[in-house]
Amino acid sequence: MKSDRIVYLEQVSKIYRSRGTEVYAARNITLDVLPGEFYSLLGSSGSGKTTTLRMIGGFEIPEYGRVYIGGEEVTTLPPYRRNVHTVFQSYALFPHLTVTENIAYPLQIARISRAEVEPRVQESLRMFRLEGLGDRRPSQLSGGQQQRVALARALISRPKVLLLDEPLSALDAKIRAEVRQELRELQQQTGITFIYVTHDQEEALALSDRIAVMANGQIEQVGTPRDIYDRPTSPFVAQFIGKANFLLGTVVAVQSDLVVVEVAGTQIWAIAPHATPPVGIEVTLMVRPERLRSNDSEMGCQTINTTHGRVEQITYVGQLLECQVETPIGRLQVTQLSGGELAPTLNLCWHPQDCIVLSKPA
Ligand code: ADP
Ligand code: MG
Repeated sequence: MKSDRIVYLEQVSKIYRSRGTEVYAARNITLDVLPGEFYSLLGSSGSGKTTTLRMIGGFEIPEYGRVYIGGEEVTTLPPYRRNVHTVFQSYALFPHLTVTENIAYPLQIARISRAEVEPRVQESLRMFRLEGLGDRRPSQLSGGQQQRVALARALISRPKVLLLDEPLSALDAKIRAEVRQELRELQQQTGITFIYVTHDQEEALALSDRIAVMANGQIEQVGTPRDIYDRPTSPFVAQFIGKANFLLGTVVAVQSDLVVVEVAGTQIWAIAPHATPPVGIEVTLMVRPERLRSNDSEMGCQTINTTHGRVEQITYVGQLLECQVETPIGRLQVTQLSGGELAPTLNLCWHPQDCIVLSKPA
């Protein structure tokens, strides 16, 4: 294995068996996480995120495959023999201990001297904005404060890797956005590698250096937030991470990195970032609703990738207008900035760079 990875899963599978049935909670997962990365596992409920995280943390042993941390194979090692720390969905603070005692706990377990514990806990209270709360018990704190205590406790022993399983899911929306920002800053300050489980696309896009999109115990795609949003490989990922228009067509020409696809008699220029398709095959194209521009927008339209149609439906979503436009190449979702009147028919255009040939079929 390459030594620059801090966490590496090699073809890992986990099967749960109950009453004669088998569930592949994780199937053939290969992933690598770089030191200092904020790496998210994103997927809907039941997609295998927690199982994958638990195999990294040592709470589950995979049936197949290997787990490496810091270049060392740890597949069957217990959690305490791995240089990782896990923060679970429920904060799992000790209710009978004070904030200070909760945070100091991992250092006491590690038999670190009292003289060293004290300043580290003080620094931690400062860092997590918990000054003045050190003597309270968890029940006397808000959800956001409890979560900060859980994070402070997780980081006090300075693990190489921090595993977080939906750590913000118990918080309400406003506090969640606040703690999310803090989490990112904290990760950047400490340089600790974060592996972060979430089902929230927005959260993953906002926080991550890279995202692994999971479905049915498998990884669908790994990439930067921009990769995943702009260059999804499959209709599944395209829809999971945002809104998307799909067009079915046949490849009629390939010119260096551009592909020409005929969709209902119209030639459309697209890019094929994943694999260049051969002429003659059927492909699915993807265009985001906000990348379709109407010709009165300031960007103007080129002469390629244009269509037109009647606006069938308009939804106002604050600063945005979401409309459905019936065109010769199909019904398209179009997102425009609101303000001003929308004409009853629109000329639409889009850039070939915003039109992606998906490598997996619809
Ligand atoms: P996620 O965290 O993405 O919601 P999980 O990893 O918890 O998904 O679960 C993946 C699949 O494995 C699900 O179908 C779930 O029901 C199943 N599963 C998880 N844990 C167990 C278990 N201890 N016993 C049996 N099945 C399990
Ligand atoms: Mg889970």
